[in-house]
Amino acid sequence: MHQVSIGSVAIIALLDAPFLQNPKVLTPDHANEMAAEFRDSLDSRGLCTGAVTCYLIRSAGSLILVDTGIGPRRRPGFPAGHLDAALREAGVGPDEIDTVVHTHLHTDHIGWNTYDAGDGRTEIFFPKARFVIQQAEWDFWTAPEMLAEPRNAALRECIEPLRHTGRIHFTQGEETLGPHLVFISAPGHTPGHVAVGISDAGERGMIIGDASHHPFHVTHPDWVTPLDWDPAQAAASRDRLFDIAAEERRLVLAGHWTHPGWGHIVRLDGRRSFRAL
Ligand SMILES: [Zn+2]
Repeated sequence: MHQVSIGSVAIIALLDAPFLQNPKVLTPDHANEMAAEFRDSLDSRGLCTGAVTCYLIRSAGSLILVDTGIGPRRRPGFPAGHLDAALREAGVGPDEIDTVVHTHLHTDHIGWNTYDAGDGRTEIFFPKARFVIQQAEWDFWTAPEMLAEPRNAALRECIEPLRHTGRIHFTQGEETLGPHLVFISAPGHTPGHVAVGISDAGERGMIIGDASHHPFHVTHPDWVTPLDWDPAQAAASRDRLFDIAAEERRLVLAGHWTHPGWGHIVRLDGRRSFRAL
């Protein structure tokens, strides 16, 4: 089990699935440079070894889960999700999670919110949790035309069922969430995408969600990806996050980097680079 501490806050990395990504998809304009400079992060077929990782945070008596992976249903382009097994291995039941935080509402971050309970019924997988969602993100993805798109089945199955439960807690921008967590605005990948800052006893961390899909972005934030809703805004957001992380010596936790996806940003000869923990 992969675990780190930031002051009194304990964080466990839960692997939903390993996730291979093609450099030509991640950054079409710089795929060859990427493959040359970051050869060690590619497998024998030239694919980036990534992951879908969710982070479980124990903070001030609360159990908080940041993002819920691909989920139990088959999704085109994604492997099957196993967050349920990862939670079991960590000795945590879904009913012990009191808060689910979403960095954003893409398919591979909302999957375990619900499951099919048979007879056409959809149940919430975390029966006691409240769901913390940025208002801007909710408004964008729950617009009627978004929900109606055939490819947005995950929204209909994993987000729409939350609507009338009374368990959504909407946030706006850089609000705090308990004594150790704060949202950091990082729009671009999606309109309301956020990072989650963690601090206690002089130590700091930052869960960056999908502000970056691979550590090459630490050195080259401007190698844009078509996976981002607004590539230029996403590049500016990750540049800011990595500057903050380097300046404040924050541990960076990234859900799509090779599991467990955490390490530090260092500056060498005026260039930022990533050092896995
Ligand atoms: Zn993602």
